[in-house]
Amino acid sequence: MFDQAERIFEAPLQYRNFISGEFTDALEGGVISRESPAHGRMVSQYPASTRADAEAAIAAARESFDAGRWAFAYGGERAKVLREVAQSLRRNADDLALVETLETSKPLAASRGEVLFAAELWDYAAGLARILHGDSHNTLGEDMLGLVLREPIGVVGIITPWNFPLLILSERLPFALAAGCSVVVKPSEFTSGTALMLGRYLKDAGLPDGVCNIIAGTGDQVGQAILDSPDVDMVAFTGSTRVGRVAIAASAGNIKKLSLELGGKSPSIVFADCDQEAAIDGVIKAATINMGECCIAGSRLLVEASVAEAFQNRLAERLQELRMGDPLDPTSRIGAIINRAQFDRIAESVRDGVRDGARIVCGGDPENHRGLFYPPTVLADVKPGMSVARQEIFGPVLAVMPFGDLEEAIGFANDSDYGLAAYVWTNDLSKALTCSRRIRAGRVWVNSALQGYPELPLGGFKQSGNGRETGRYGIEEYTELKSVHLHIGPQAERWVEGA
Ligand code: NDP
Repeated sequence: MFDQAERIFEAPLQYRNFISGEFTDALEGGVISRESPAHGRMVSQYPASTRADAEAAIAAARESFDAGRWAFAYGGERAKVLREVAQSLRRNADDLALVETLETSKPLAASRGEVLFAAELWDYAAGLARILHGDSHNTLGEDMLGLVLREPIGVVGIITPWNFPLLILSERLPFALAAGCSVVVKPSEFTSGTALMLGRYLKDAGLPDGVCNIIAGTGDQVGQAILDSPDVDMVAFTGSTRVGRVAIAASAGNIKKLSLELGGKSPSIVFADCDQEAAIDGVIKAATINMGECCIAGSRLLVEASVAEAFQNRLAERLQELRMGDPLDPTSRIGAIINRAQFDRIAESVRDGVRDGARIVCGGDPENHRGLFYPPTVLADVKPGMSVARQEIFGPVLAVMPFGDLEEAIGFANDSDYGLAAYVWTNDLSKALTCSRRIRAGRVWVNSALQGYPELPLGGFKQSGNGRETGRYGIEEYTELKSVHLHIGPQAERWVEGA
């Protein structure tokens, strides 16, 4: 992989937009260059699309949807296309993983795992394309049959962030396509490579032209054009709560449906009775996966007071063993932060925490490392009101707060504007179930961390968003229901008397 990466550094990969089945440059000819955050060398060049490119992509999607070829296609035909894309993802897993690692700096093994999981999602959505159906009501009287049709919602805009580029797209795009929608995809300007590669797989799989259009560009140009367009019926937005609010405001124009997957500040709750070593490993995984640049990161550690000091010290010890380094090196678990702005935000958040009275147990010293590598950091003596306990940091930073009993643990867990995920570590079934039921979050892991399955839905409570992706709910999100009232036999009644 080092050789292959070197070749890319010498001749960065060139990408084009995918509109109406054609591969094209941006209309104004601009280009966005992307450097590998870990290596500081250019790896990719994407089209710097503008509003005009976005409008062309939206027009292509609208035209293809209104023509109905995909929207009314047999589910088995849609399934075949999606399955072929899944196969292409598997066949090209090494290339896709390398691009993902060079653009994001996540460890190569993680990138490969994400590509293979993305393929699972395409396969799963293919199955849903065949079982999606409406309903019938045979109980409305002898002269009436009620049909409930489940139809594709229309043209869907999918806007994604930089942290899990192909994976997050695959939690949405195949489900929208399985439902029969036409789509415009806008990946993050920092990590557009794998999304643009997907265009080739869709074309080879036989997707009709215009059904899926993928364009690179910035949020203020391409993203905003998608949000503003009256020709887009729904936007699936994944990103910050700040831009989520922009999406809500823009959607008012044509009252488009929004599915929003936003930020998080998820708790790991550790009870004294749990398997402490397993919990330490799980807490570290939840806090540091993807360098903590993960919406469901377990970034708050709530630990039962009687074991808090010992747990925290052992956590710091184990964190020293976590290898931070070149993401191409198979032994690295932690790569570099996505860009300088994000790195500075993390450093500033930690400094704010210390200013507010938090104590650094380990990490917090980025100046001792080269480049954009931020060491895993544990902050103790955190109080619920501090910004490090409330704001999403999006870096490998864990804020520790001891709790006294179950009620206090649940209170702390729910004391957040967000509600994306929670991790509970206990061997007491009653505590596990009470936490699972009372914590207001879209996903709860018990004695486990971050395992994902296409069958299970994901999404957030509170300011973490609304709507659900994946699972059977994932396809329903991209549909509308229509009732058909079907009269049977002679017309017994007349509206106009005497007729
Ligand atoms: P941003 O909200 O900054 O950006 C997300 C996407 O929105 C990008 O493609 C961005 O474009 C685009 N965008 C920016 N401004 C606009 C606009 N005015 N109109 C339309 N689109 C716009 O998030 P990040 O990319 O920085 O990702 C990090 C955030 O994403 C975190 O808060 C994280 O919690 C959240 N997230 C949530 C997930 C979930 O499932 N709940 C999953 C993953 C991340 P551009 O290319 O210019 O950046």
